[in-house]
Amino acid sequence: MTITEADRHTGGSFKLSFEFFPPKNADMDVQLWETVEELSRWNPDFVSVTYGAGGSTKAPTLQAVQRMISVADLPTASHLTCVDASKQDVHDVVQEFTAAGVKHFVALRGDPSTGIGTDYKPHPQGYENAAALVRGLRDIGDFEISVSAYPEKHPESESDAVDIDMLKRKADNGATRALTQFFFDNEIFERYMERVTKAGITIPVVPGIMPIQNLTQLKRFAGRCGTSVPAFLDERFAGLDDEPTARARVAAEVAAEQILDLQRRGINEFHLYTMNRAPLVNAVLENVGFRPLRRSAA
Ligand code: FAD
Repeated sequence: MTITEADRHTGGSFKLSFEFFPPKNADMDVQLWETVEELSRWNPDFVSVTYGAGGSTKAPTLQAVQRMISVADLPTASHLTCVDASKQDVHDVVQEFTAAGVKHFVALRGDPSTGIGTDYKPHPQGYENAAALVRGLRDIGDFEISVSAYPEKHPESESDAVDIDMLKRKADNGATRALTQFFFDNEIFERYMERVTKAGITIPVVPGIMPIQNLTQLKRFAGRCGTSVPAFLDERFAGLDDEPTARARVAAEVAAEQILDLQRRGINEFHLYTMNRAPLVNAVLENVGFRPLRRSAA
């Protein structure tokens, strides 16, 4: 598929959000803030900052979130996990983030500090899963609460039905939006949305879009997350290992085509995994032809 002028988005209402991760060193810190500044021009509905396993990035997440709110003036959600934490630990963290101006949490169970796919055990005094965490947050304050959703099911879920049931529990407990794991096959997303609707889940389920910086690395990560990588991606990136410019062009086309196809299926809200880099995200959104509305008018 190639993108024609007729495909490009020419107005109307849509929403974008961008996901960042907290920097691990001074160079990454500089890169993050350059990226945030560049991507601000798209007037995202909100941005979010991830939270590391076992609370390992609380301080850098808090610092990044604080700066996004007070300096960059962006509506900012903090991811929050309950793995390896008692309820009291979680409440203390929520208090700190709230004091920094956070009104929106992305509430997650999280993965054990031993890694994805290793046996998850809730903290004895903690929340047992994300649904329980959502309920806990709801009891603490009037937050906007986003949660995860898995179009190809979470790798630990025994079935699609169990997976959808967890999303339903999160919505019933007060989640206001779901952000999906990244996926590359829009048919899978459409079938997932049919199951979501059938289950009576009415919160918006926003597709997570991952522009592909490096297909080989992405395949490794996707394998751990349970995301399938369709064969057409091998074809599109074939022979481009040593051609960074052509690779970036293809990556921007592939993600833009995915967004445009989702728009044709009636989706107008997108969560982009930025990997803290602006050029590819800019190229994707330019390819799509987005003309972001000003936030105040959205
Ligand atoms: P839940 O919603 O509680 O569960 C997800 C699914 O797994 C459910 O379908 C459930 O049935 C199944 N499941 C859960 N527990 C079990 C169990 N014990 N046995 C069997 N099945 C089970 N991780 C981070 O560490 N930090 C982040 O900032 C972060 N951000 C994310 C943002 C998004 C948009 C997404 C999609 C994921 C993110 N993750 C993050 C990853 C997430 O923490 C992991 O996928 C984790 O394994 C599950 O967390 P959850 O909130 O999705 O779990």
